[in-house]
Amino acid sequence: MSPYRTVFDNFAHIRRNGYYVDAAKEFLKYGGTSMNMVNFPDYFYTPDSHYEKLYRETIDVAKTVRNTGVDTVITIGPYPLDYFYFQSARKDPVDEMKRGIDMAASIITAGDADAMGEIGYPHFPVDEKVYSDSGVILEYALDVCHDHDIPLILHTEDMDEEGYLRVESIIKMHYSIDRVIKHHANATDIYFNDSITRSFVASRSNIKTAVSSGRDFLLETDYTDQKDKPGKVIPVYSVPKRAEMIKNLYENYDEIFHRIFEEVPFRIYRKEFFDR
Ligand SMILES: [Zn+2]
Repeated sequence: MSPYRTVFDNFAHIRRNGYYVDAAKEFLKYGGTSMNMVNFPDYFYTPDSHYEKLYRETIDVAKTVRNTGVDTVITIGPYPLDYFYFQSARKDPVDEMKRGIDMAASIITAGDADAMGEIGYPHFPVDEKVYSDSGVILEYALDVCHDHDIPLILHTEDMDEEGYLRVESIIKMHYSIDRVIKHHANATDIYFNDSITRSFVASRSNIKTAVSSGRDFLLETDYTDQKDKPGKVIPVYSVPKRAEMIKNLYENYDEIFHRIFEEVPFRIYRKEFFDR
């Protein structure tokens, strides 16, 4: 059992072909209580059925994870690299990914999932056409999320301050900055002059930088649950372990926990279990 009310991992993948239930149990064992489960872009399916099957699989896996006692937020949506998958299948990536956004929005609106993601740009350099098409897809997703009041998780390349400011202006043009999170952010970016909320990989140094900034943030593992790459990006138990570290390092740990595990997640996801 967790010594705290809530220990929330803001970004993890759990896969039927990975450690699956054992990963959820390990998270619980170390004191984790809830996680944002994001669909993992396995390309097992045909291009025509990709999103339908991927979303259904993610929702099914989340049910199993919930049965172990872990509360879940479920995030579904196109992943920036889906672009190349559709391109190599000779489909129009922009059309296909917009269709994936619409489908995700209707599932979320029906109450079967909670957030849209990962939306944005590939994390490695791409040609101008791919980058500008990715921008079109991001703007479309922001409009859809705006219309249906859905939180959005951003996946982008590592950005400098100018990059953050540019993405911030796109968000503000289409949606509210309060409902968007940049996942897998670097804590060194926390002093940039934009107001996008960051979710940091829960390393010791990221936490120290983030806490000392006094700004809002979230913690994540970006755990990929792949048997051939165990413990990648960082192990599934990392957020509860770092909660222990925060407790040992900071006198106001209670206030920090309330902010990063309850207040900020509730602002973004509006899920009940954060304030019980
Ligand atoms: Zn990502």
